[in-house]
Amino acid sequence: MLEAHDLSKTYGSGPARFDALQGVDLAIRSAESVAIVGKSGSGKSTLMHVLALLDSPSAGRVVVEGRDASTLSARDVGTLRNKRFGFVFQQFFLSPDLSVLDNVALPLAIAGVPVAEQRSRAADMLRAVGLEDKARNASTALSGGQKQRVAIARALVSRPAVVFADEPTGNLDSRSGALVEELLFDMQREYGITLVIVTHDDDLAARCERRIVVHDGRILYEVAA
Ligand code: ADP
Ligand code: MG
Repeated sequence: MLEAHDLSKTYGSGPARFDALQGVDLAIRSAESVAIVGKSGSGKSTLMHVLALLDSPSAGRVVVEGRDASTLSARDVGTLRNKRFGFVFQQFFLSPDLSVLDNVALPLAIAGVPVAEQRSRAADMLRAVGLEDKARNASTALSGGQKQRVAIARALVSRPAVVFADEPTGNLDSRSGALVEELLFDMQREYGITLVIVTHDDDLAARCERRIVVHDGRILYEVAA
C-alpha cells in the first residue's frame, strides 16, 4: 500500500540544518494498522507528513499503491490525497464557518461530487460516528470528543484507502479518547482501511498490529502485536 525507501528530510541549512528523518525504510500493507511512536521531536509527524504526501522528502522515495510519488504531477498528488487518503489531526481542524454536515462533506465538495450526493454521504458518515443529531449545528458548539468524531467522519467520507491520524486522542480526556480510539478501529474493520497513527498514547499504540519506534529521525525497532 505504502512504501518508504531511504527517506531523508532536512529542515534549514548551514548551522540551522536539522535532519528530521535519516534513511527511513518502511512498508505498510493494505488494511494494516500501524502506530508510529517515539519521543516528542523524534520525527513522527514529519514521517507521517512525508508518507501522506503532505510534504516531500529531501531524499528517498515514497511509493503509493505501486506509484512513485516523485513521478506524479502536483495535480495528481492532490487528487491521490483527496481520494485515497483521509486525515485526522490532534487539533481537529474543523471549519468554524461550516455546519457539522458541511465539514464532513468538504472532501466531497473539493472532489466535485454533486451536492445532493455530498449531503447524503456526509449524513451517512455522521450516523456512523453517532452524531447525526448534530448535523445542522455549528462545529464550534461541539465538545472536543465530538469534534474529533466529526473529523473522523470527514476523513472517511471519501472512502479512503488510508487514514493518517496524528495524535488523534492528544487533546481529549480519557473517556472521549477511548471513544475515538474505538471508532477508529471499528471503522478500520468495517471499511478495511489502512490506519497509520502517530501517537504518545500507549493504549492506542498497543491496539495497532505494528508499532514503529522512531528515535532521532530513524526507525529504532518495530514491535508486532
Ligand atoms: P514529532 O512529531 O516526533 O514530535 P516532528 O516530526 O514534528 O516530531 O519534528 C521532528 C524535528 O524536526 C523536531 O526537532 C522539530 O523541531 C523539527 N521540525 C519539524 N518541522 C520543522 C520545520 N518546518 N522547520 C524546522 N524544523 C522542523
Ligand atoms: Mg508530532
